[in-house]
Amino acid sequence: MGDVLKVENLEVVYNDVVLVLKGLSLACPRGRITALLGANGAGKSTTLKAISGLLEAEDGEVTDGVIQYNDEPIQGLIPEKIVRRGIFQVMEGRRIFEDLTVEENLKCGAFTRPRSEIAGSMAKVYEYFPRLKERSRQLAGYMSGGEQQMCAIGRAIMAKPELLLLDEPSLGLAPLLVEEIFEIIKRINQDEGVTILLVEQNARAALSVAEQAYIMENGRVVMDGTAKELLNNPDVQEFYLGMG
Ligand code: ATP
Repeated sequence: MGDVLKVENLEVVYNDVVLVLKGLSLACPRGRITALLGANGAGKSTTLKAISGLLEAEDGEVTDGVIQYNDEPIQGLIPEKIVRRGIFQVMEGRRIFEDLTVEENLKCGAFTRPRSEIAGSMAKVYEYFPRLKERSRQLAGYMSGGEQQMCAIGRAIMAKPELLLLDEPSLGLAPLLVEEIFEIIKRINQDEGVTILLVEQNARAALSVAEQAYIMENGRVVMDGTAKELLNNPDVQEFYLGMG
């Protein structure tokens, strides 16, 4: 068991001046879903990008702290190396290739996999998302927002990661679809044994599938606990679940 990922005292600066993460610490136990919650601008996406190595492309830099993956530091590695180690990020806003078909998009996720395993993984993705199978030859750009999100998650499954980073999978989706996507996230976690770090503004949906969660404000973790503890916490209910 143990933690697949351990982040300690992480500090991130954009453009050499803007301090966005101010000593963030969290851990992702193996095989579990951990949620990272918080308001707009708290630094959730920045945290994921620091882990996946995508910060540099945005002039961001880790200036302090440690990111340990399977007990080895990974900060400073290029994104491709991080993917090859087994970490895959689904970016916010469903960054799929609009001019490629659904099937081509899915294949892109498998660039680190042996050829012989691709067909099997594709079949699995189609089992999770029958709608993607129906639309496999359609250009991804013509699909609905929900289908594009499925395609983005499907592409991540094709990479067969050990740690899956999901950035706001519910963003812009109708409530019924949110439920469907979260059910599938739970299934993927259980069937594939993949460890998941889930960033969400929809705290209720995230806490319905996560075992534990961290709440961020202004670049730091201000509260953490099991999903059950947080769902029963009056402050969380008031500020994050709209029950005040
Ligand atoms: P959201 O839900 O809006 O994505 P978030 O919690 O994920 O919120 P981040 O996207 O990590 O927050 O942003 C945290 C802070 O960092 C914000 O104040 C944002 O303006 C700033 N920021 C994000 N990306 C950059 C960038 N490329 N350059 C400069 N500042 C940035």
